[in-house]
Amino acid sequence: MNKWIRQEIQQLSAYKVPESSNSIKLDAMENPYKWDMEHTEAWLKILRNVSLNRYPESSANEVKQQLRSVMQIPDNMEIILGNGSDELIQTLALAVNDEGRVLLAPEPSFVMYRMIANFVRMKYVGVPLQVGDFELDMFAMLEEIEIHQPALTFLAHPNNPTGNAFFVDDIESVLETATGLVVIDEAYASFAEHSFMDSLYKYPNLLVMRTLSKLGLAGIRLGFLVGSPELLGQIEKLRLPYNINTLTQLSAVFAMQNYEVLEQQTKQIKIDREILTTRLEEMKGIHVWPSQANFILFQTKNAEKVFERLKARNVLIKCLHGNYPTLENCLRVTVGTSEENKIFLQVLEQVIED
Ligand SMILES: *Cc1c(COP(=O)(O)O)cnc(C)c1O
Repeated sequence: MNKWIRQEIQQLSAYKVPESSNSIKLDAMENPYKWDMEHTEAWLKILRNVSLNRYPESSANEVKQQLRSVMQIPDNMEIILGNGSDELIQTLALAVNDEGRVLLAPEPSFVMYRMIANFVRMKYVGVPLQVGDFELDMFAMLEEIEIHQPALTFLAHPNNPTGNAFFVDDIESVLETATGLVVIDEAYASFAEHSFMDSLYKYPNLLVMRTLSKLGLAGIRLGFLVGSPELLGQIEKLRLPYNINTLTQLSAVFAMQNYEVLEQQTKQIKIDREILTTRLEEMKGIHVWPSQANFILFQTKNAEKVFERLKARNVLIKCLHGNYPTLENCLRVTVGTSEENKIFLQVLEQVIED
C-alpha cells in the first residue's frame, strides 16, 4: 500500500491498452482509413504556419463553428469542447458531484462512466440491461432513478459494447422521469439511425455528447457536449483554459471542411458492417447482435481461446468475457477495411473449428 495515494485509487486497475504493432487492429472502434495524399498535403500546408510558441485559442471558436455546420447542432444551443469525450464525462461529474450524489448508467456500457465516478468519489449505480436483447430494462431503470435520484445519467446511444441503440421511447421516459442531468452519449452517431440532437429544445435536462474519435479522428482527441447556454455556461467554468491544443484545433477545422471524405468512409463502413454481420451469422456456433455502430458484438464457444488464437495470428479484437455476466463468451470486432474484415473472417473460421 502506498501512503500518499487515496485508497479507492489504489484499488482501481489502470485502463489497459494492448500492444498492437504488426496486428490487424480491430479492437478500438477506429476508422480504418487514412487521408489520401492530396488531403494530407493540404493539411500539412496548414500546419506549416502554426505558431507553437503561442497558447491555443482558448474558446476554439472556429472549431465550434465548423462543428455546427456539419453536425446539425441546433442554433440556440451551446457547445463545450473536450480533450476527447472522456474529459467531458469527467468535467460533468466534477460539476454535479456533492455529498451522496449518484451517477447512473445501464450495464454493460461504456466503462469510463463507472471509472470516472470513482475518480471523483461519486456514488455509481449500474442498472443491468435486459438479458438477450440488451434493451433498457425500463422497470428497473425507472425504479432506480426513483430511488437514487441520480444527478447524472449516461445513456450511450448506440451503446458500447453491445452495438444496439435503445428504443427512443424508453430514452424519452428516462428523460421525463430523471430530475438530474441526462447525457445521451452519441459517440457512434455517424453509424446510427437516430440522434437526440433535435430533442434538446424539448428536455432542459438533456445534454448530447459526441466525439470525432469513431468518425475517423481518434488521434486528435476532440469531443463535444451540446446543451442549453444556461447549463453549459456553468459547466464551462470547469473546463481547463487550453484543453484543446492548437494542432487539434487546426486539424479538426480542416477535417470538417473536408467532411465529405469522412462521410464517404462512414458510408463504406456501414456497408461493410452489414456484410460482416451476415458472414458472421452464417458461421456455425456464433450468435451475432445487430449493430448501429462501427463494431459488432458476437458470442462463440470458448471466447477467450478464440480471442487468443486470433491474436496469435495477428488479428486483434476485444474479448469481453469476464467483464460482465451477460457478456459471457462475447467478443467485439471493429469494422475494418473490406480486406481486413475478410482476413478476420478467414482466421476466425480457422480458429473456431477445433
Ligand atoms: C469511444 C467512446 C467514447 C470516448 O470517446 P473519446 O472522445 O475518444 O474520449 C465515449 N463514449 C462511448 C460510448 C464510446 O464508445
